[in-house]
Amino acid sequence: MPDSCCPFCGLVCDDIRVATDATGARAESPACARAVRLFPVPARGTARIAGQAAEPAAAYRAAAALLKRAQRPLIGGLACDVTGHRAALALAERTGGVVDHMNGAAQFRNWLAYQDGGWMTTTLSEVRNRADLIVLAGTDTCRFPRFFERCLAQESQFGELRRRLVVLGSGLSPEAAHSVSPDLAIPLQNARLGELCGALRARLAGRRLAADSVAGVPMDQVDALLEMLRAARYGVLVWNAAELTFPHADLAIQAMVDLVKDLNQTTRWSGLPLGGNDGDTSAAQVCTWQAGYPLRTAFEASGPHYQPLLFDTARLLETREVDALLWIAALDPERVPPAVACPRIVLGRPDMVFADPPDVFIPVAVPGVHHAGFMHRMDGVVALPLQGHTPTELPSVAQALAAIQQEMNHVAT
Ligand code: SF4
Repeated sequence: MPDSCCPFCGLVCDDIRVATDATGARAESPACARAVRLFPVPARGTARIAGQAAEPAAAYRAAAALLKRAQRPLIGGLACDVTGHRAALALAERTGGVVDHMNGAAQFRNWLAYQDGGWMTTTLSEVRNRADLIVLAGTDTCRFPRFFERCLAQESQFGELRRRLVVLGSGLSPEAAHSVSPDLAIPLQNARLGELCGALRARLAGRRLAADSVAGVPMDQVDALLEMLRAARYGVLVWNAAELTFPHADLAIQAMVDLVKDLNQTTRWSGLPLGGNDGDTSAAQVCTWQAGYPLRTAFEASGPHYQPLLFDTARLLETREVDALLWIAALDPERVPPAVACPRIVLGRPDMVFADPPDVFIPVAVPGVHHAGFMHRMDGVVALPLQGHTPTELPSVAQALAAIQQEMNHVAT
């Protein structure tokens, strides 16, 4: 059984053993519980129009008709592989639609900081092979179940590494605490991470702070932490924007990014923004190389129009600035579309269950289970190949979107 890549979180682990039989695919050791849950998926599904079973051709026609009527559709969700993302952008271009990912709120906390002043980040391989100090800032990485196993192994390409681990935030979950034990843990509210990083930058620059504590952290502990940061030969500051759910979290990320830059004056430091779940890194990469802009871009007659704040999915739906939603969720059946006032078309896993059925549901194949494809890892440096393990008659996202576009051509003539 050859090793395969797993598409179900941003680590895209490439050492998964997938067994198949008449019932479908099964992820075996060393897969995590998430992969074990998501690899089994039915080979068949039923298209539905207004909750009633329909032929796939009728569902494509119904979806095409809804998109033809829309002035500005939102092509959202975008949980699929690279080929699906390319097809989604083609449809957005055709319909004058806006594109945003289901994880857009988290993604754009990072992009706002990145666009403002750039950042210095590293790769998972560098973390595994070189990092001697890891600082987890406001995350215990539990949304990436094998992070510690894959990235913090003692052995590296260059021999054994003596790593140190610092945890800033509410601490490790029981599962994470089972895998690692921190050398230093500083309890802190995530919303105050920016404050602590600002103080560390000031102390690093040799400034005196007239305070006994910063963000609830006593000043002697701030200084002890700073000494650890300065002593690292290759430090990595890890955060997960999805867990920084407070107003203006992009500013906290900015402070972390700036701290990394400052530390690089005397030693080597990098950031590692965790992400990539639900294909979000792939979606961002594809949009940038196709359109020259990140997601949250509208494809207008005059060309792509990028608006990172205005073209947020939640805002667009709440203000009714879009009049149709096409939601793509080919990876996790729990990522159902939001309830909205406008018509909804869903391209989803065949095992997706709706409390409130969409206007059109088209079951699609799962990349990395039913068909081959590519997906970018969270660090964005490699697009890993996904294998198809079990046959299906379900269309891929790209095929379903092409069929909808074809129906739109038909309606147009
Ligand atoms: S950690 Fe992520 S990529 Fe690795 S097996 Fe689990 S879900 Fe798949």
